[in-house]
Amino acid sequence: MKSLEGKVALITGAGSKRGIGHAIALRLAGEGADVVVTDRYTAPRSLFPGDEEWGGLDEIVGEIESLGRKALPVMADVSSSQEVDKAVAKAMEKFGKIDILVHCAGIGPPKDIPITGHTEEAWRTVLDTNLTGSFLVSRAVARSMRGRGQGGKIVLIASIAGTMGLPGRGAYCASKWGVIGLMKTMALELVKYDICVNAINPGPIISNIRDADFAKLQKELNITFEEAQEIEYQKYLTNIPMGRFGTAEEVADLALFLVSNQSSYITGETINISGGI
Ligand code: NAD
Repeated sequence: MKSLEGKVALITGAGSKRGIGHAIALRLAGEGADVVVTDRYTAPRSLFPGDEEWGGLDEIVGEIESLGRKALPVMADVSSSQEVDKAVAKAMEKFGKIDILVHCAGIGPPKDIPITGHTEEAWRTVLDTNLTGSFLVSRAVARSMRGRGQGGKIVLIASIAGTMGLPGRGAYCASKWGVIGLMKTMALELVKYDICVNAINPGPIISNIRDADFAKLQKELNITFEEAQEIEYQKYLTNIPMGRFGTAEEVADLALFLVSNQSSYITGETINISGGI
């Protein structure tokens, strides 16, 4: 028997082709879970060459069904309480329960802008999406888990940026420190309902989160998208002891551990997955 057979998982930020949420949705389905896949867009654009036809949530539903599991696609902006509550209601309507939440929806930082140069608008956009989104999604799912009385597993994708200061990325850092504070508080509040709450702190992972940076550099230097990626990746590598970016699938393996029975005595923790950073 697979470890998640009979479980229902809700994954936010699941729509991007190269994203951590997509990889986690497939990993959990592969272990037997039925999966609600949500995203702000039905098919977030991937600028990686070859990804032009990416079908987003609908394509992921097909992938999950081909693994023999059920799936439900739901569009929802995590920074809107109405949309989040509706998404959770739709999941409950279809499956009658949510055992697992993995909250992956998030946006990257305005890059290389010191706090003195941050606009209020950019600050609010990052905080609304990354921090308020984590609150709204966790609140809605935790309410349904608590109401059902059968426990549950909540995993928030934070970042190693939530454990340090990063010059030029103040809003992003602040949002991720906030996510970790939220996780630690919820872990203590929900422990009596047998709901475990933990966070994963990825280091640099290949995904679509940096696509706009690559596209900007591509335009500035009149080079290919892959060349721009290579230049940007090289900037990070000297700071990664393992000398490479991580993959979304490696993050998915850790997420699977944290939503499975194998992590039954773990709550309120952050686990870094960062190649040694
Ligand atoms: P990604 O861009 O590939 O995926 C993020 C997904 O979130 C996208 O599908 C996007 O459409 C969705 N999203 C964005 N705003 C949303 C909103 N308001 N409502 C609903 N969905 C929304 O990026 P990723 O790397 O897979 O990022 C997943 C999480 O991992 C994020 O929280 C990110 O901060 C975190 N993270 C990523 C890295 C990395 O290097 N990739 C490192 C540390 C932390």
